[in-house]
Amino acid sequence: MIDLDVVRSDTPSCADQVFLDSAGSSLPPRQVLDEVIGHLRREAEVGGYRAAIERLDDLEDGYRVAAGFLGCEAFEVAFTDSATRSWNLVFAALPLAQGDRILVSEVEYASNAVALLHRTAAVGASVEPIPSDETGAVDPAALRELLDERVRLVSLVHVPTNGGLVNPVREITDAAHEVGAFVLLDACQSAGQLRVRADELGVDALAVTGRKWLRGPRGTGVLVVRRPATERLRPGLVDLHGATWMAPDEIRLRDDARVYELWEFGVAERLGLLQALRYADALGVDEIAAAVADRAQRARDGLATVPGVTVHDLGRQRCGIVSFTVDGVPAEKVRDLLRERDITVTVSRVHSTLLDMTRRGLPELVRASPHYFVSPEQIDEFVAEVAALR
Ligand SMILES: *Cc1c(COP(=O)(O)O)cnc(C)c1O
Repeated sequence: MIDLDVVRSDTPSCADQVFLDSAGSSLPPRQVLDEVIGHLRREAEVGGYRAAIERLDDLEDGYRVAAGFLGCEAFEVAFTDSATRSWNLVFAALPLAQGDRILVSEVEYASNAVALLHRTAAVGASVEPIPSDETGAVDPAALRELLDERVRLVSLVHVPTNGGLVNPVREITDAAHEVGAFVLLDACQSAGQLRVRADELGVDALAVTGRKWLRGPRGTGVLVVRRPATERLRPGLVDLHGATWMAPDEIRLRDDARVYELWEFGVAERLGLLQALRYADALGVDEIAAAVADRAQRARDGLATVPGVTVHDLGRQRCGIVSFTVDGVPAEKVRDLLRERDITVTVSRVHSTLLDMTRRGLPELVRASPHYFVSPEQIDEFVAEVAALR
């Protein structure tokens, strides 16, 4: 069990407010904050190059830390600046020709959809949604109906940006692999709140962000590309870190996932992200998942008793994102009124998960995403304040 007093004292600002936006940008533990600020200070003292050299061992060890956390080998890890960057680096590297098909879940995230539609329009490929089952999860049977050897990519969102749904990754991946499709997992909303291991999930690549459930700094992300999948990929944006200029007309690409990295990155932010990974690892990802699920379910159960409030979370298995609407009160108004009471929630709009929101006739939702550092009493306070809104 997570020691609530310890994690709360590591997160000083969590006592001043009810923070329910770890699906947006979480509160970092002080270990992360100290690392980032400490490194920025050191850069100001000795210059960025010397400061980085002093931390070379830690930076190198980071690949091992991320690999241990995400269930892959250290050479399958690249650090990036966001989940969108990670996702796009792989997608851009995947060959795509006219007539190719791409399958997506109905909770596909807008930025992924934009990249997919932008590129498929240029090459003459198609993007098709996989129907969901009655719980709202991707339906493996429906996927099997759609699969053929022209399916180049299955883009799967583990947890959507707008609700508590958890998609069944392993089943989808196994089915997709039967026809040789590449499986790219958007683990942006799952990493840090659920167990996300590439080896267990069987995916070819996965994209993660630092600032959400991992509680890392903004502007950080991780990309995992499994070794067998690299043979099918041709990295698009490579610099002198990803390749070596050997002769006037010859370069040699790196053979590990760092081929996707650029030479330049925010060292302080990277070190902060590594602290966040270590912090999560020390708590235990299964312990985190249990605590997060507990807080979220407490919120759902509480909100369900409030007249005029509807909880909209889909799925058989549910995670830390709680989505709801309040009759007669626009989502933004709910957010702003709660803000005045030091409760932070956000609004999810139709354009961030267009297929799903349109299908359900929902223009907007209020999103509350409690991490393990939110106390059960704070969840009850949140529910009481929502009840008081009407
Ligand atoms: C937030 C989010 C992203 C994008 O993450 P960035 O780090 O902002 O690039 C991708 N997918 C889902 C499901 C998200 O919620």
